[in-house]
Amino acid sequence: MQTSCLDSDADFNAKNQQVTRKTDHGDLSYVLDADNRICRTKGPWDGFVLANLGPGGEGMEALAENVIGLSLNDFVQDEPTRMLLSALADSVRLLRWERHLDYRCDSPTMKRFMQMKLEPGPLDTVILTHKLLRTEPIQPAFYVLTASSGETARGRRCSLCNKVRIGDAWVEPDHNLAQRVPQPYAIKHTLCPICQHAIK
Ligand SMILES: [Zn+2]
Repeated sequence: MQTSCLDSDADFNAKNQQVTRKTDHGDLSYVLDADNRICRTKGPWDGFVLANLGPGGEGMEALAENVIGLSLNDFVQDEPTRMLLSALADSVRLLRWERHLDYRCDSPTMKRFMQMKLEPGPLDTVILTHKLLRTEPIQPAFYVLTASSGETARGRRCSLCNKVRIGDAWVEPDHNLAQRVPQPYAIKHTLCPICQHAIK
């Protein structure tokens, strides 16, 4: 949510790898302004980034100075999930309550069970915290490739639960799925019916 790890893209661009590694070491928090743009990071953000740079210095784009001003939408690829997060943030501002949203941010080899907490802040800000709850291995590894706009994607993947649509079914990335589809499997993100229903 990717980065929030909400961008649950399992082909893992460098930014997502960076933030996912950061969440391995603690919660990741930032503040959204009234327009859902990141206006401040919280905690030792840059310390996490610098401690997890790639061998060639990859990951510098995740430094606080580079994410300040980005929109929450910059980390979410599909319109249904953008609408969901915008509605959640608005409800937190309006009702001054705390909301939690469970989601997955899988890598090709690991199921990452995450939780997002949204808290009301001053001046219509919303504080987002992403927490890694637990991980489980994916065997064999399952590789997806996110289709860019204009490209044809064979499959769909849910942005929240990370299940993949096969026919009318939404399934986990497991041994059975790996045998049924080519890899990397070209997908576009959306919300599955169960996740759409669960958040209403
Ligand atoms: Zn889902």
